[in-house]
Amino acid sequence: MSKMTVEVVTPERVVYSGQASMVIARGVQGDLGILPKHMPMVTPLKIAPVQIKVEGDQVVRMAVSGGFMEVRGDKVTILAETAEMPGDIDVERAKASKGRAEKRLSEKYPELDVQRAERSLQRALARIDVTK
Ligand code: ATP
Repeated sequence: MSKMTVEVVTPERVVYSGQASMVIARGVQGDLGILPKHMPMVTPLKIAPVQIKVEGDQVVRMAVSGGFMEVRGDKVTILAETAEMPGDIDVERAKASKGRAEKRLSEKYPELDVQRAERSLQRALARIDVTK
């Protein structure tokens, strides 16, 4: 089966690099399943898990936030503010972050930056999700 090269990169490091038969990501306009020979494309991603189908139908799941995905030839590049593999995620930290965001959103005090709290909640949920 034909393969694609996938790289997930943050300002800090290359978080993932490898061959894949499919990449599933949540674009701003909906879920995207990228297969080899996909047409060239660039799209912003929602804060969500990204799934990379590798050798033998194994799936690598990653939490990605502030990301863009570029598809060009048989290369998929995800540039993101943050990206973590499940093994790099501190679940207790994500749960604490989720709790803070939920508390802020339920209190809704006037000076609350609602979008910021919602983004924080999405990051925490994506991190918890990929560790399951
Ligand atoms: P927190 O409130 O716990 O700091 P956050 O969503 O505000 O969470 P980010 O600003 O998205 O954190 O990330 C800052 C850095 O910390 C990034 O390098 C990110 O990969 C890392 N990071 C954030 N949360 C976790 C976590 N639960 N486990 C491991 N690394 C994390």
